[in-house]
Amino acid sequence: MRIKRATKYGFCSGVRVADIKVKRFVRGGGHGAILGQVVHNERVVEEMERLGVRTVKAIDEVADGVIVFSAHGVPPSYHEEARRRGLEVLDTTCKFVYDIHHESARARAAGAHLVFIGDPGHREVVGYTHDLDPAIYHIVHTVAEAEAVDWSHWPALTIFYQTTLNAEEYEDVVRVIERGNPNARRADTVCYATKENQDAARALASDPEVDVVLVVGGKHSANTRHLHAICARLKPSYLVQGVEDIDPAWLVGVACVGLTAGASTPDYAIDEVERHLLELDPPASGESEAEKGRG
Ligand code: SF4
Repeated sequence: MRIKRATKYGFCSGVRVADIKVKRFVRGGGHGAILGQVVHNERVVEEMERLGVRTVKAIDEVADGVIVFSAHGVPPSYHEEARRRGLEVLDTTCKFVYDIHHESARARAAGAHLVFIGDPGHREVVGYTHDLDPAIYHIVHTVAEAEAVDWSHWPALTIFYQTTLNAEEYEDVVRVIERGNPNARRADTVCYATKENQDAARALASDPEVDVVLVVGGKHSANTRHLHAICARLKPSYLVQGVEDIDPAWLVGVACVGLTAGASTPDYAIDEVERHLLELDPPASGESEAEKGRG
């Protein structure tokens, strides 16, 4: 049996950089707390705790030392709050997330009403909106939500996308807003990480050599479930959290397994699944395509 990995999968560049920064901090002897999960993956949270960086839900749970702000960013007021409490900040906010913070501040200063396409409960969106007067922005996620607003009410609109969404899938939502206001402008701040993972998963599942696709990731991760749905339209596909979820019956008569992973899945979880598959059925040639297309 052969294994083919998608050309892009797993952590986006922002989360990878954040992970490296936290591990470098720990190697330097640092201990601290991270606000919110680095990614929605319990194993990553446990790994961080083992390394000496516990996960907290609020700044006031940290009495002293270092607080880590994760790749998806925080509201600017959290930096002030941390300073006020005498905490040192290790800021791992992704550069693209900061671009949206800066661009939305510029749009606001220019008098535009802000529209965020995304999930109001997602930490990234909370980071953009928490400190703002609710009268100056909207968060919309569906066509119905977009249709419920009279967008002509504002002289200008600037539209931003939550970076963990594939912007292309929200075209219908954005069109409703644009139809409602001729002065609606899309901010030039799109991150392609999610789209790249999805496109690579689609290409993997479309590959005629691939018989079955395994998607590694949390069952509660929306991003992972979405990847699974994309693959399942093309090939028999299974969502697994780890090796314990793999049913050998799926692999009977299978010559090539496609492997991809959600954005919250650490590399070691994918490696474990691959090792397990090869133990179940080692390749005749002794060769895996595992590292071929690493993105
Ligand atoms: S999805 Fe994009 S913007 Fe968001 S953290 Fe990852 S790389 Fe950065």
